[in-house]
Amino acid sequence: MGKEGSLKDVLEFHRQLTVVDCHCDTILEAAKGRGKLRKASETGHVDIKRMQEGGVGVQFFAAFIETTYKPFSSLTRALRLIDTFYTEVDSCGDVLAQGQNMRQIRNDLKAGRMIAVLGIEGGEALNGDLQVLRTIYRLGVRFLGLTWNQRNQLADGVGESITGGGLTNFGHEVVREMNSLGMIIDLAHISEAGFWDTLEISRHPVIVSHANCYELCNHPRNLNDDQIKALAEKRGVLGLSFVPEFLGLEIASLDGFLDHVDHVAGLVGTETIAIGSDFDGIDQTPVGLDDSRCYPRITAGLLERGYTENEIRGIMGENVLRLMDKVFRE
Ligand SMILES: [Zn+2]
Repeated sequence: MGKEGSLKDVLEFHRQLTVVDCHCDTILEAAKGRGKLRKASETGHVDIKRMQEGGVGVQFFAAFIETTYKPFSSLTRALRLIDTFYTEVDSCGDVLAQGQNMRQIRNDLKAGRMIAVLGIEGGEALNGDLQVLRTIYRLGVRFLGLTWNQRNQLADGVGESITGGGLTNFGHEVVREMNSLGMIIDLAHISEAGFWDTLEISRHPVIVSHANCYELCNHPRNLNDDQIKALAEKRGVLGLSFVPEFLGLEIASLDGFLDHVDHVAGLVGTETIAIGSDFDGIDQTPVGLDDSRCYPRITAGLLERGYTENEIRGIMGENVLRLMDKVFRE
């Protein structure tokens, strides 16, 4: 396709991609009784109909442990959100399948079903216990954000960076156990020291599911260039988010998002780049990135900026699928 492919060509190309979104908070919306996947609604950002319109292939769903439940009710809260996830996925069984292993995921994608990957955002949910980690793996949890912004039993979150604290002993054990289970380690929200500790000891590549570039926007949740380079060296991926505060413009927009893509591409190439919308976790969305219907616009924007079809396939999803191939046991 030429650089100025017609809209029809762009949509045709987009339809052939596997779009992967590394982060949304839709389980929380569902737990409140809003934004249920099945019923298309005007509120929220993610539902089946809009995912289909946007050509989503794989959606990561994070069970975010809210502060009010920490620390003592974190595990119960996580289990309840897992139940919510199952209720949602079960109600959409004809078009949506839970992603458990790569063979099944590829088969379901081939059969035209979308994939829901379950994860937890906040290692508090482990209650300091590796047996809980192994059990939630059996419950279908395939990624874990080691921390949110606070400190927990695993590490300091980014909100505690002043302490210089990284992984705890238990955090080390969790990383090793996640490596042997074949679970994806998510380093969004962790302190910088925790980021470096994990990168050093993890045998598998990791993801940073929703963050952006510090060089373009000095927000503590964003990764500096050294972190992006190290992530790339370890074959990890950065899910560039749509969070207006992380994009760093007065009016966040698709163009501003693409600037972050350009920055990472210029630094380490495109293989480290993924998308991590943070849909249903943000109140404001960038202009042009309003909900799950937005992905063809990103594809079009990438074509306009001169990325090759192969690079775009990677950015839109294949880079994450490649990481899943490495991390998941089967
Ligand atoms: Zn988050």
